[in-house]
Amino acid sequence: MKKLWNNKNVKEIFDFCEGYKDFLSNNKTERECVKTIKEMAIKEGYKDLKEIIKNKTALSFGDKIYVTNLDKCIFLFKIGSRPITEGMRILGSHIDSPRLDLKPNPLYENGSSNIALFDTHYYGGIKHYQWTALPLALHGVVCKKDGTVVNVNIGEKDEDPVFCISDLLPHLDRENKGAENKIVGENLNVIIGGIPLENEKKESVKANILKILKSQNIENDDFISAEIEVVPAGKARDMGLDRSFVLGYGQDDRISAYTSLKALFDCKENDYTLSAMFVDKEEVGSQGASGMQSLFFEDMLAEITELLGENSHLAVRRALRNSYMLSSDVTGGYDPNYESAFDKNNDAFLGKGISFNKYTGGRGKSGANDASPEYIALLRNLLDKNEVNYQLTEMGKIDQGGGGTIAYITANYGMNVIDCGCPLLNMHAPFEISSKADVFEAYKCYKAFLTL
Ligand code: MN
Ligand code: MN
Repeated sequence: MKKLWNNKNVKEIFDFCEGYKDFLSNNKTERECVKTIKEMAIKEGYKDLKEIIKNKTALSFGDKIYVTNLDKCIFLFKIGSRPITEGMRILGSHIDSPRLDLKPNPLYENGSSNIALFDTHYYGGIKHYQWTALPLALHGVVCKKDGTVVNVNIGEKDEDPVFCISDLLPHLDRENKGAENKIVGENLNVIIGGIPLENEKKESVKANILKILKSQNIENDDFISAEIEVVPAGKARDMGLDRSFVLGYGQDDRISAYTSLKALFDCKENDYTLSAMFVDKEEVGSQGASGMQSLFFEDMLAEITELLGENSHLAVRRALRNSYMLSSDVTGGYDPNYESAFDKNNDAFLGKGISFNKYTGGRGKSGANDASPEYIALLRNLLDKNEVNYQLTEMGKIDQGGGGTIAYITANYGMNVIDCGCPLLNMHAPFEISSKADVFEAYKCYKAFLTL
């Protein structure tokens, strides 16, 4: 096996991660990811499946297609020379990340302090205390009754204001040492203003905020048809004196999304039809129209098989059943500060390559996908031939917890699917840590997989 870091490849790894950091910095919501992935795909010659369906254009070998759903998930396909019924090579990742969402009626003023705040309800598994006392940004959309959509992105540009959730000063927090247990979801309120509107007697700070919002074409009532996510402000950065790590928001799971996308674009020849999935709602169980449990992917595949001249329900089933898939998602990396949560021999280490999990789930593999050893052997052979560094791991000590991905959902079709992805430190924290070597190794792995 090739060493992960050597004099020859450092530049290649670092250059690749420049693109990765830009992707993280510019895409902090699933909608922003879909928009960017779509734009990048169009540049690569991908065409809109919805247009193809409308025009009844026949599809054939070499065609490149994208399709979006609710602007929150996107699927890419590259048609192969073999019949689609022989199966596809699928890379699946998710583009939603843990965050705070504004509640439907978010704006209020605290009467004693004359501070206006936004009430939030968190999304995904977070440690509440980590979201206090750091700069936050607002990203999302406000949908007006007349059908117009106001895009919101405040807190990323140098000249923008940022937002913050306050935390109690240590001087007054003697009882609450270990704030983790004390800060509850209901208290994650984002401070957004402190100047009262002149001549306004009641809730004058709130009134002033409403005035500012109105100047941006947003009324208080419009929040009920809005989707605004509170995310950490600022760019993804190099971390460490040797710059070996990336510190940034949303690496779960945009690390897999970016590396899959680049691998698909860089794969020049394919016998089998290739697909890359970028789905929403993984962090809350994959349900809903834009999650992996939705029938949207299957429906779009049915449209494609029909346009390929394979006009039968069975063709879709065969295409799915005969597929191979990498369910690409991050895993918890062995943390030198919390060794007791891990099993040295079976956990993923940062800087040792992409990690494969035969099982996910927790507490006796509950909720697990189970990749067959035959499939793992096939992958070992492929990865060794392509000099990809990989580790076969679990996540943490067995009764410590666990986690799931989208693998068990696509496994329902009978396809071969295994979990794989980069190990992270600080997973689900506002800023997560990855090793640049692993990012590059993931890209190499996905590229090799698409030739399987
Ligand atoms: Mn994930
Ligand atoms: Mn996650």
